[in-house]
Amino acid sequence: MATISPARSAFLHGQWTPADAAALYGVGDWGKGYVSVNPAGHVAVMPTKDPNRQIDLHEVIEGLRERGIHTPVLVRFNDILTHRLKEIRGAFDAAMAEQGYAGGYSCVYPIKVNQQRHVCEQVASLAVELNFGLEAGSKPELLAVLGLSATAGGPGVNGMPIICNGFKDDEFIETVTLATKLGRNIIPVVEKFSELELVVKHARAYGIRPKIGLRVKLSARGAGRWEGSAGVRSKFGLFVSECLRAVDYLKAHDMLDCLNLLHCHVGSQLYDIKVLKNAVNELAHVYCELKKMGAGLSMLDIGGGMGVDYDGSQSAWSSSINYTVQEYAADVVYRVKSVCDSAGVPHPRIISESGRAMVAYSSVLVMDVLGTSKFENTLDTEAIEKALAKETQPPKPVLDLLDAYRSMTDRNLLEIYHDATQARDEAMSLFSLGYMSLPMRGVAEQIFWATCWRLLEKAGKKGELPEEFEGLPELLSDIYFCNFSLFQSMPDSWAIDQLFPILPIHRLGEEPTRRGILADITCDSDGKIDHFVDKRVEKKTLELHEVRPAPGSEADGVVGVEPYYLGVFLLGAYQEILGDLHNLLGDTHAVHISLDDHGGWEIDEVIEGDTVEEVLAYVQYDVPDLKKAMRLDIEAACRQGRLTLAEGKSLLKYYDDGLEGYTYLEG
Ligand SMILES: *Cc1c(COP(=O)(O)O)cnc(C)c1O
Repeated sequence: MATISPARSAFLHGQWTPADAAALYGVGDWGKGYVSVNPAGHVAVMPTKDPNRQIDLHEVIEGLRERGIHTPVLVRFNDILTHRLKEIRGAFDAAMAEQGYAGGYSCVYPIKVNQQRHVCEQVASLAVELNFGLEAGSKPELLAVLGLSATAGGPGVNGMPIICNGFKDDEFIETVTLATKLGRNIIPVVEKFSELELVVKHARAYGIRPKIGLRVKLSARGAGRWEGSAGVRSKFGLFVSECLRAVDYLKAHDMLDCLNLLHCHVGSQLYDIKVLKNAVNELAHVYCELKKMGAGLSMLDIGGGMGVDYDGSQSAWSSSINYTVQEYAADVVYRVKSVCDSAGVPHPRIISESGRAMVAYSSVLVMDVLGTSKFENTLDTEAIEKALAKETQPPKPVLDLLDAYRSMTDRNLLEIYHDATQARDEAMSLFSLGYMSLPMRGVAEQIFWATCWRLLEKAGKKGELPEEFEGLPELLSDIYFCNFSLFQSMPDSWAIDQLFPILPIHRLGEEPTRRGILADITCDSDGKIDHFVDKRVEKKTLELHEVRPAPGSEADGVVGVEPYYLGVFLLGAYQEILGDLHNLLGDTHAVHISLDDHGGWEIDEVIEGDTVEEVLAYVQYDVPDLKKAMRLDIEAACRQGRLTLAEGKSLLKYYDDGLEGYTYLEG
């Protein structure tokens, strides 16, 4: 027997409150103190985890709308980012103080996780205070990071650490060498032996003592989706034998003191802390051995991988993690300390490249629901009787269906389900054999779905679902069409089935009476979300509210919907930059929101999303050519009388305005 949802039980036990909504969507579990539901039934964001300093997300969206900025919009909370960085700093400081660790700690931000200038600038601006740094994994990233560190850390060897991973060519390393001469605290991490030769070559040519890092291929394997990042078959790093060769090579060039850092990266979103412990342990042993051979080592870089608890379950599976930031810090410090202490080696500065953990929490996508598609849960029996009366011989299965629907009581649910299913199957075969009309088939389907709805409702009220009904909620669920592109805004949902918490950002004081899946506005059938976070089981439908018609919208015969906004949370890591232009839906608008000094919030920055013109140009269209082609065509149509001049003018105006507009639907 499946247990029923909290929505149902709250319904049974009294008045629905915003607290029920918070429990239903697990806000307290995955929100980690940054998200809650306020008494108005709106999502509230607490960027510093202080319940007295809340930002009403619905109020932000309404405020943006008044300023002409429409959903979909990505809201970045600067104060969450700051708080998160300080939390990581604090966790390591506490662990080091508690365990008497003398080596220090720095977190470096791998900008590949989110290269948006505003995000990187904010990290860079905090780097000096927190003793953090930046990491680059490619040539464009290196150039960005060099620019960013110019304004933030200032020159000088004590400036923020800059770590360079990834493949490096001659020009890359020459640039790094010159940046060292400029005064940057920059450390190229050697991924393959030839890079070491280049580092030595340029250092000698320019007369500098570089800081050099080595990435080691550990035998400890990663786990989960990114397990290929580590282990002997990994794409990156030097075998231990190659590390030893590197030591000899550097010694021969009188540069062994330049070997400053040892690096590994076991994978992203490490959900099991054991994997990390094993890797850190092995890396620390290699560190101590190389140190004893005379290497000038002073930094141990444990790479990225600190995970995020996307579903709030705190468990060892891919959408979650079985540890906290505090445990992560305590375990790392403990491992490094015990290995170094027993080897008699001074504690190194620990470096982690925890990109996801730094930025995931700070971005939320808010999108509007454009409409729904659903099975009716009510039945107009009178209308059905009228339709049946028109038939000379009403089909038996349809009469059976109606009969089953009417004779349902609280005690015969399974029996009714079996009868209705059988009658529906009979109706479908009659139709296929040509013995039943299309309108009658329509009636049969209508009764069947209404029967299923009532069954589910009655079973739900009894407290538990019979096993045979377990598929019903999914089968009967609605489709909510949402104004966004999955491929642009949450690509990992499509690519690797990553779960993100999603819930309405308002109306949370009302019980959500519908269940739905979400569909985006691309024409791709993959552009949908049909798995949702839940602490216990993965939900295949999301509890949602009935979308209401917009007041007065029926005037021209087309019913619009009242704004209904959904928020997708924890989108700060990887999603923005992995997003693509599927269906030419471009970047969404992005806004930066900060707490102000008076207990409210303010808009720091508005970054307008792509226009249609911009995405077309990106795929090599010449926009003036397109406009010209349309104009000529419209002129010809007007000449030939297919369009009036006024119609031609309107069409041209829509075309021109459309090119300048947002790639999403603008309400
Ligand atoms: C991707 C990557 C990271 C960041 O990993 P997270 O899981 O985001 O912490 C760190 N270091 C290297 C070398 C990487 O490739």
